[in-house]
Amino acid sequence: CLFWETLIPESNEESSSKEKKQKARVLFMRVLHLYKPDYLFLIGASLFLALAVLCEMFIPLYTGKLIDILQTKYSWDEFLSAIILMTFFSFGSSFSAGCRGGLFMCAIGRFICRVKHQLFSCLLKQEIGFFETTKTGDITSRLSTDTTLMARAVALNVNVLLRTLIKTVGMLYLMFSLSWKLTVLTLMETPLTGLLQNIYDTHYQRLSKEVQDSIARANDAAGEAVSGIRTVKSFNAKQSEKSRYDKRLMDTHNIKTQRDTVRALYLLVRRLTELGVKVAMLYYGHLFVTYGQMTTGNLVSFILYHSDLADNIRTLIYIFGDMLNSVSASGKVFEHLDRKPEVSTDGTLEPEELKGHISFQNITFTYPTRPDQIVLKDFSLKLEPGKMTALVGNSGGGKTTCVSLLQRFYQPQHGQILLDGQPLQNYQHKYLHSKIVAVGQEPVLFSGTIRDNIAYGLQDCSLERIEEAARKANAHEFICQLQKGYDTDVGERGSLLGSSQKQRIAIARALIRQPQVILLDEITSFLDPKSEQMIQQALANCPNQTLLVIAHRLKTIEKADQIIVVDQGGIVEQGSHQELMEKKGHYYKLKEKLFTENDSL
Ligand code: ADP
Ligand code: MG
Repeated sequence: CLFWETLIPESNEESSSKEKKQKARVLFMRVLHLYKPDYLFLIGASLFLALAVLCEMFIPLYTGKLIDILQTKYSWDEFLSAIILMTFFSFGSSFSAGCRGGLFMCAIGRFICRVKHQLFSCLLKQEIGFFETTKTGDITSRLSTDTTLMARAVALNVNVLLRTLIKTVGMLYLMFSLSWKLTVLTLMETPLTGLLQNIYDTHYQRLSKEVQDSIARANDAAGEAVSGIRTVKSFNAKQSEKSRYDKRLMDTHNIKTQRDTVRALYLLVRRLTELGVKVAMLYYGHLFVTYGQMTTGNLVSFILYHSDLADNIRTLIYIFGDMLNSVSASGKVFEHLDRKPEVSTDGTLEPEELKGHISFQNITFTYPTRPDQIVLKDFSLKLEPGKMTALVGNSGGGKTTCVSLLQRFYQPQHGQILLDGQPLQNYQHKYLHSKIVAVGQEPVLFSGTIRDNIAYGLQDCSLERIEEAARKANAHEFICQLQKGYDTDVGERGSLLGSSQKQRIAIARALIRQPQVILLDEITSFLDPKSEQMIQQALANCPNQTLLVIAHRLKTIEKADQIIVVDQGGIVEQGSHQELMEKKGHYYKLKEKLFTENDSL
């Protein structure tokens, strides 16, 4: 049994690392695919990249040539042409590198813009529950940091990879042409250091894991003693706890020392190998020069290439590992891009005539953030066109939740809401939101003019239509009194307007869509009686609509055709004001408690 226990975690680890690599590969390919519209930029950048590398590669060759020219019979013409060629290559390399950088940055910039645009429209499609369960910080960092990381990870890595790859192949070719014997000799370093690295990695990773485990064991010992301090003290076990902790600390120290020794040994052996190969290269290089198989200049060029080659090979190995790691940020972006909203928006119904019969049928609902708190329990309710229904009750009863469900912000877990006999989700999303509109207690206006705010979300809306809606909402008069009229700026979140004015603009914004169902959630709570009266008049302008009003004020409610008393997610009483007053039940008590104080305002 113990044998298997030791084996299982390892095989799990192995398979999870394989899975990770596979996932990273898929992500990388997806990001590359997203770059499709910028392929032209990327190809251009790659061509300049190749040109820059080629020019760069000839510089050591011509450095050697210069040495040879200076060493042998000095010919001014040869010297001059070598200098001109070197200048040409240097200039070519810098120019191409500049073009390469510019094109890459251009591709990255375009990519970021496109992904941000896609991501933002995907985010806006999500249901309200998504925004409640996802932190705003997470959403904004997906939009800003992660999209940038994703673009750079792939483009820059491809850039470095191509550059290093071309350079390595080119340098190897030139080194072979300078001296194949020396090249074979120096190339022996690669398998040697590779083998060494492999052995080192295996040991170092095992020891690092042991160090982590042993630190955790020491922490466990300390944690156990501290959390059970009463028992430790009452059994006078301080000494044994101390020695237990000391022993674990010692274990940690020993494993750490082993790990550091392995590292030091590895570095030493690697340096010695590198040094050995270098010495051998110089020795044989010297021999080749002496026996005329190579010129001094060629040897100098070779040495320059060799020192660059080792760096390039290291970069190549590193970049292959890093390329897969660096796409992890894109995983988070794709998670959002791929997310389908839980409240579906693919209904298709858009009848020309909508009456506005609404029926809640045995709705049971919990919010996504609190799945174990049932907010509406087997809740049924009917709203009729041309009638006003008032929802009243203690706060937290579930009234606002009814409004949210009617707007399809959430999907109830059980039951359904019918609009003219059809489930709400069957209606086309845009259509539904033009037929059912809601105004809340604190309407959100956006910075811009009054005209923009009333026509919010509508395209090409004429001023006549805006004015008509404002008139119905009892807002036209006050708007005309403002210096700039409909072009008055409302300020950030409507801060330059009073609350009654904001409310009336919000009502105009709702009425301009000519809705059939109007939901008003405590819109009069913060208003003085005069403003309330204005809003009452505005409501009187909608005689054929289905009106659902949530209010604290008696005056608003008294006129309702039916009053529903909601408490703890269920209906406890319903009827007209007169009936409920006579009944002397919940409504009567609620009125005493809430309305008296509110109405005395
Ligand atoms: P009312 O409008 O009658 O005051 P609500 O419908 O706002 O009541 O709230 C009903 C219950 O649902 C309350 O217990 C409230 O805490 C909870 N609730 C309201 N909104 C949310 C939300 N977005 N997430 C989680 N719980 C909520
Ligand atoms: Mg409420």
